[in-house]
Order: sequence, then C-alpha cells, then structure tokens
Amino acid sequence: VHANVATPKQTNDIIKKYGFKFKKSLGQNFLIDQNILKNIVAAAELDETKGALEIGPGIGALTQELAQAAGQVTAVEIDNRLIPILRDVLSGVPNVHVEHGDVLKLNLKELIDARFKGLTGVSVVANLPYYVTTPILMKLLEEKLPLEHIVVMIQKEVAQRMAAKPGGKEYGSLSVAVQYYCIPELVCIVPHTVFIPQPNVDSAVIKLSLRDKPAVDVKDEGHFFRTVQACFAQRRKTIANNLTAYVGKTNRERLGPLLESCGIDPTRRGETLSLDEFAALSRALIEAGL
Ligand code: SAM
Repeated sequence: VHANVATPKQTNDIIKKYGFKFKKSLGQNFLIDQNILKNIVAAAELDETKGALEIGPGIGALTQELAQAAGQVTAVEIDNRLIPILRDVLSGVPNVHVEHGDVLKLNLKELIDARFKGLTGVSVVANLPYYVTTPILMKLLEEKLPLEHIVVMIQKEVAQRMAAKPGGKEYGSLSVAVQYYCIPELVCIVPHTVFIPQPNVDSAVIKLSLRDKPAVDVKDEGHFFRTVQACFAQRRKTIANNLTAYVGKTNRERLGPLLESCGIDPTRRGETLSLDEFAALSRALIEAGL
C-alpha cells in the first residue's frame, strides 16, 4: 500500500515522477495536510457500512483516508492524466473505484445505485474544484440524490454564504437554496498554505446534512426559487420594488396587500426574509395567479 500522499514530500515526489503539470482551469490544488483530511473524514460520519462518493480525487490524498473510513469509495476524476497516478497510489486498496468523467455530466443516481448497493448510507466527501463549486452542489441537491451528508472543502466566502442566516450581507439565494435541502455547519476554516499549489483564497470545510424533507412547504419548487431570485435581484431595493419586475408593472398595486397578508412589510429587503417567509410569499403569489 502506498504511503500517505498528503505530505509536501510525497506530493512533490509523485508530481515529479509523472511529470504532472497542474491545470489551473480544473481547479487543481492538492491537499498536503493530514490533519485537515482527518477533520474532513470525521465530519462525514463514515463507517464500514457507508459509502463515500468523492469528486475530484486528484492524486488520491483524501481517497486514501476515505478508503480506511468507509465500506466503499467511488472517486470521479475528470483529468485523464490523473487516472494512472490514482491507480498507482491506490493499488492494493480494494474498496476504491476510480471513475474517469465529468461529475456534471454523469448520471449520479445510476452511479450511486450501482456502486453502493447494500450499504446503509452514502455521503459526498470532496475537496472541490472551486471554479464549479456551486454547479456541483446544486446538481447534488436538485437531483435529490439519496445522500446523508455532503462534506466539502470550498472557498471560504462561499461556505459562509451557504451557512448565512437572514439579516446579513452574506445571506442570499444560495443560502436559501442550500438551507431548503440541508442543515449547514461550518466545520473549519483552512489556510491556503496547506495546498500545492496554493490557491489565492482561503478555504473552509462545510458539512451539509440532508433533510428528510425540505425545510419549508412550497406549492411549486420552481416558483419558490424564482421568487427568491426575484427578491434578491437588486439587493438595495425593497422586496416590493424587486417583485414588481417579477410580476409586471400592471400588477404592482396588488403587491402591497399581498405582502401584508403574509405579514411581510413591503419596504423590507430580500436579505431579511426567512425561508418560511419566502415560502409564504411564493404560496400567496401562486394563489393570486402571479
Ligand atoms: N482531492 C484532491 C486533494 O484534496 O488533494 C484534489 C482536489 S482539487 C481541489 C480538485 C480536483 O477535481 C482536481 O483533481 C480536478 O482535476 C478535479 N475536477 C475538476 N473538475 C472536475 C469535474 N467537473 N468532474 C470531476 N473532477 C473534476
């Protein structure tokens, strides 16, 4: 079995051995800190009855740890140059499957069904490529995959927006979307010095625990998320003004009473509305035919 790759020496040795050149466009920043890996894996609450789906294994730093903690690991890597390196690093590790592909294009439901049969739960655990963090997470959530937790290293500011409560400037449509499906918890902040090469930003590990059912009752999910988007369209504007653009000028007069009927002051800003208030607003708009 290969030595732990998450050290500066091992990582540099592998890069030299294979003549590997980092592709910035693929968000390639490899972790070289064993403690942070352990924190990520601990947050995922794995054991031998659980499966771990890793997105972007790189040279296998996190994959090695996951293989020890979970029953089965499947790691999806887009960069074909990394596949032989992963085969080398993970040789002799029987419970890991490496899948070459773009996670945004894969049928993850099928992959999960095929790879994690008979296990008691599956979680996504990853150090995500930062250029596609939000599309990847929204895919995981919107496809309603059978996941327990999503534990991911992402850009610190994005993690803070996902976990933000109403009232602050970090709270926005991403906070609402994530909290609709999950309970977010910031696990730790990670300095940029624990990666090769070092990214320009600080990172954070966030744990998203999937809810059995969404946080709020909505009539129509599409309408709910469009309403949320509309309320945040221009952050300095009041909800009434933002919604006018959404329902059309001819319906403007109806917005005041409609917002009042939901107990929402029309002069408030979108960033002060709770998920419950957005849900009530969406339901009221639907009932009014808007
Ligand atoms: N897990 C490794 C670690 O922690 O050291 C590498 C993490 S690195 C931040 C992100 C990895 O995701 C890279 O290996 C990159 O090639 C891969 N990647 C980028 N876009 C991807 C995509 N769309 N699908 C699958 N993997 C992707």
